[in-house]
Amino acid sequence: MQKSIELFNRAQQHIPGGVNSPVRAFKAVGGTPPFISKADGAYIVDADGKQYIDYVQSWGPMVLGHNHPAIRQAVIDAAQHGLSFGAPTEAEVVMAETVNKLVPSMQMLRMVNSGTEATMSAIRLARGYTNRNKILKFEGCYHGHADSLLVKAGSGALTFGVPSSPGVPADFAQHTLTVEFNNLDSVAQAFAQHPDDIACIIVEPVAGNMNCIPPVAGFLQGLRDICDQYGALLIFDEVMTGFRVALGGAQQKYAITPDLTCLGKVIGGGMPVGAFGGRRDIMECLAPLGPVYQAGTLSGNPVAMAAGLAALQAIQQPGLYESLTERTQTLAEGFKALAIKHKIPMTVNYAGSMFGLFFTDVKKVTNYQQAINCNNTQFNLFYHGMLEHGVYLAPASYEAGFVSAAHDTQIIEQTLAIADKVLASVAA
Ligand code: PLP
Repeated sequence: MQKSIELFNRAQQHIPGGVNSPVRAFKAVGGTPPFISKADGAYIVDADGKQYIDYVQSWGPMVLGHNHPAIRQAVIDAAQHGLSFGAPTEAEVVMAETVNKLVPSMQMLRMVNSGTEATMSAIRLARGYTNRNKILKFEGCYHGHADSLLVKAGSGALTFGVPSSPGVPADFAQHTLTVEFNNLDSVAQAFAQHPDDIACIIVEPVAGNMNCIPPVAGFLQGLRDICDQYGALLIFDEVMTGFRVALGGAQQKYAITPDLTCLGKVIGGGMPVGAFGGRRDIMECLAPLGPVYQAGTLSGNPVAMAAGLAALQAIQQPGLYESLTERTQTLAEGFKALAIKHKIPMTVNYAGSMFGLFFTDVKKVTNYQQAINCNNTQFNLFYHGMLEHGVYLAPASYEAGFVSAAHDTQIIEQTLAIADKVLASVAA
């Protein structure tokens, strides 16, 4: 840990908290974050040379595992021709065609540089298209750090939003309504109160930012129905679930067609890429065709497109998602069995290759309140035990874990053998 400690001390001199994205600082679990020097397949290696089995996978993008040879080569090849042109390229055309083939509801799409840009732009478009101001989101869902999305519910389930960060004006937050995930009644109430004012519902179809919470049966269909009833748009934020829970994302897995979809993470193969898109008539409202403004100097960057296209090519190999799902199930059911063995109250949720462990005696965790009421002391003990034994999990109990194509059965078994030891010490 010596090198990581030194780097963390230096980092804190000039970078707030020593990191360029807050959760990396390990505040939730304590201790020093390992600084990473390289990664390959299922493994990352820290600055001190220690290797870990990695279930963070750069927070989702690396569904094929780290340093995938085809993606690496595509980046090298593209870089030979120049890094950015600020003019249209063939790669962007192929990217749009490929995304449309894999996610057919995205009849038109626009590339951006992050998930935050994708959701922010989709919300602006939904507001511009419907000519309405309010948006509805769910407690515990994260959609990036744009102002109107950094909003939590007030004291009651159905109050106007209050900013969850200083710097977000209250006047702004009041247009964001926040209701309970997996609770259609709370959505119906919000629409009954504001029938003509809500531009859109934005939802993570599988919530991955309050640990991992899949939709209960009928929830997503219910959202679709309510949007249709009130003339609001349904936005699936598939930044995490896209090309992750199924080749065609959560909309394919659960067979629901949103009006707009936001993508990020996997679509860039590890480069900074996002996209939003959907129904043609809505997307045609975007500049230069329509009046809703959105732009980006580096959007559709040729090196990023090359990486993303190589990733989207590779994930189409037959059987990939079946095997990802199977291995995730083995891992999740393995954790469950170990928790029973060591008499530790635990629930494990999973969907596709996303999973999450909840230290709780609630049998089925379906919402934010249940997720935040878990035993953090046990989670932190478990977390540091796993880290010490070379398993890198997300450093907070509210984050989903990711299995990649590089996590073979032997790696999964090795992880469970380590978890067996660690859970024994958590129980002690
Ligand atoms: N939406 C979801 C569901 C996410 O999980 C994230 C990031 O984790 C975002 C949006 C924001 O994406 P980015 O961090 O690329 O801005």
